[in-house]
Amino acid sequence: MTWRPADDLAQSVALEVLLHGPLARAELARRLDLAPATLTRISAELIEVGLLIETPHLAERRTGRPSIPLDVVADAHHFLGIKLTGDSVMAAVTDLRAEVVNYFEVPLTSTAPLAVVEQICAAADRAAAEHPIDAIGIGLGGVVTREGFVTSAPFLSWTDVPLALLVQEQSGIPAFAANDLTAFTEAQHWFGLGVGHDNFAAITLGVGVGFGCIANGKLLANDDSGVGLVGHWPLDPMGPICNRGHRGCAESMLTVPAILRDISRALDRAVDWPEFVSLVRAGQPAAAQIAASSGRALGRLIAAVANLVAPSLVVVGGEGVELAAISAAAVDQGIQEDRDPRASAVNVEFTSGSNESWCRGAAVIALQGYVLDRRRVASRRSGLDLLEA
Ligand SMILES: [Zn+2]
Repeated sequence: MTWRPADDLAQSVALEVLLHGPLARAELARRLDLAPATLTRISAELIEVGLLIETPHLAERRTGRPSIPLDVVADAHHFLGIKLTGDSVMAAVTDLRAEVVNYFEVPLTSTAPLAVVEQICAAADRAAAEHPIDAIGIGLGGVVTREGFVTSAPFLSWTDVPLALLVQEQSGIPAFAANDLTAFTEAQHWFGLGVGHDNFAAITLGVGVGFGCIANGKLLANDDSGVGLVGHWPLDPMGPICNRGHRGCAESMLTVPAILRDISRALDRAVDWPEFVSLVRAGQPAAAQIAASSGRALGRLIAAVANLVAPSLVVVGGEGVELAAISAAAVDQGIQEDRDPRASAVNVEFTSGSNESWCRGAAVIALQGYVLDRRRVASRRSGLDLLEA
């Protein structure tokens, strides 16, 4: 069964139910400013093609006739979300509401583009054994065009790889690729903490520092998205120096590798992230000091985003998000330092930094491509030709 609303109006009804359902017809008509008769006709068509169902068990009886909500058939569609890192392929299968129903990781055997494509297709086969896959989404750190063409991905040593096209050609399944932060932000927008916010920002902490922004309901993006331009935002004139010579930039203070470098140097031995978190919680002085200065820097970055972009919400995630929990007072202090006392409090929410959340983002890129019927730019040349060009 495919996602097939008859026209734009039917598509907007289906999308509203997908993103905010289950919804009663009266509520849907109000949200979309449609005449009840029009909505009755459209919903009958969408039920007919199997895209929407009535959910009588959720019926509300206020006065008179009960109102039977409409919902999508969430488990009628499945999407594979792949997060690529320099050493692994992480994969999550989600349903139409981006709920993860299967998750697995496999080590990357080679970073050569065709070998990676091979591994992604093997993951698709493995996922499809349990659920038919409607589309594949791939998220990775790097610059990726709307067509899923990876312009550069330094951690894989890639330049100009037509990733989505190659995966699609080899798997026979529609494929999409995006910068991982773009994918994360879109997932928050459609199914996460950003639901209901037309303007919100996302900050991720991990191997790098990421920033994404939804403005007036749309992702703010250009050809430089994915370069990681917020990474060198100055945060502390007394901070450590990054590899480009900045003192106290976001990358030198907030990334997991930078924090681990500092604590390992202080203790003169290798410390991993879980141990760093425990050391801070146990009050180990060097760890506590690093957490306090990084936490304060995070607060200043949140304040900068709030001051410049005026979002109604700042979502913080990524595998280093625990920094915020172990240095909460310092984060607050950093925000207060750079926020005008007359300004409203910054609405900050923290979300899971699990690998699964990155994969879920990639699955949402697939899901959006599928339901919005985004056409990949039709290429007269095969992915292989483009790769070799
Ligand atoms: Zn820097």
